[in-house]
Amino acid sequence: MQNYLTPNFSFAPMIPERALGSRVWGADGREYIDLSGGIAVNALGHSHPALIEALAKQAQKLWHISNIYTTAPAQELAKKLVDHSFGDKVFFCNSGAEANEAALKLARKYGRDHFGGEKNEIIACTNSFHGRTLFTVSVGGQPKYSQDYAPLPQGITHVPFNDSAALEAAVSSKTCAIIIEPIQGESGILPAAQEYLETARRLCDEHNALLIFDEVQTGMGHTGKLFAYEHYGVVPDILSSAKALGCGFPIGAMITTDKIAPTFGPGTHGSTFGGNPLACAVGSRAFDIINAPETLAHVTRQGNKLREALAQIGSETGVFKEVRGMGLLLGCVLSDAYQGRAGEITAAALKHGLMVLVAGSNVVRFAPSLLLDDEDMNEGLSRLQNALTEWLATQ
Ligand SMILES: *Cc1c(COP(=O)(O)O)cnc(C)c1O
Repeated sequence: MQNYLTPNFSFAPMIPERALGSRVWGADGREYIDLSGGIAVNALGHSHPALIEALAKQAQKLWHISNIYTTAPAQELAKKLVDHSFGDKVFFCNSGAEANEAALKLARKYGRDHFGGEKNEIIACTNSFHGRTLFTVSVGGQPKYSQDYAPLPQGITHVPFNDSAALEAAVSSKTCAIIIEPIQGESGILPAAQEYLETARRLCDEHNALLIFDEVQTGMGHTGKLFAYEHYGVVPDILSSAKALGCGFPIGAMITTDKIAPTFGPGTHGSTFGGNPLACAVGSRAFDIINAPETLAHVTRQGNKLREALAQIGSETGVFKEVRGMGLLLGCVLSDAYQGRAGEITAAALKHGLMVLVAGSNVVRFAPSLLLDDEDMNEGLSRLQNALTEWLATQ
């Protein structure tokens, strides 16, 4: 097929055509098991009937009306997010990058408004990922995503992830925010240590800085709780959400408290599509299903099964040395002999009818539907086993 898109993506050879639950059918007529979940987005699988209904119902009422007005779907979803998190107020946008952009701008302005213009420094982690806008690639700790776009925004310091001493050394009275992914997603499904997040909270409190948790990937049930911070009992000042928030309909959200929200007074920030009724109606319905105790319990149960099965495959084949993550957001770390080859494994899996992801070049990532059942999981695992066996035979 002729490709009319800019070459910043290297597309897989298969072109998906339709999908249902955890199965996808390609234009090649083949069926695939999807354990990638559209990169942690399709949290309720594909074509969930309740989401189709919510979308169709809203589509017949109101699509878009501008931010001159608020709407019932936006208020309804915001209320659900507030009722089930630390937050009091929500800003809606369209993506994870935009949610983080809002979080970072809010933290800068809050620092300036309350403590003066010098309080503008942002501390972020090496190997973190916060999106692809210029500000978020600069804050993200992966120079390969930012260096070609210099000059970059200033006042950003990077420290090694999970290194409390480095964080303590970097923070100062000029720090306005520390931003952390509770589990580093794109760079390898690496959970934060309990003590690290506690240190970040304490340092923010001591220095009048805001703690931002980027839960774009870890949020909306993937870890077995609505948000990953709940596992740690460490509460941020600002949280960003996107990916699974709309289960495939583009939407992002920044959640914050009544203490900080007034910094975003009228006209200080905005978004044409933010709070779009279609996105909020889908997100609101998705929220109810994801946040149901039985769904979250299912995530924990299926996550444990998937983790055990992957560890077993890893030790039998010798390809994985560790399985890490939480719930149904898991990463298989490649053994020393296979470092840097995660992309080969996802390609081999696709050939065997299985969609999985990389997280960096040393980790194979699983972010399936939160509703993944035993049958689809077992079929996916057997395809993985076959793919690895064949891949190893060519080594
Ligand atoms: C995917 C991701 C983003 C960026 O989200 P987009 O919707 O692609 O802008 C930001 N932070 C984290 C942790 C992510 O996983």
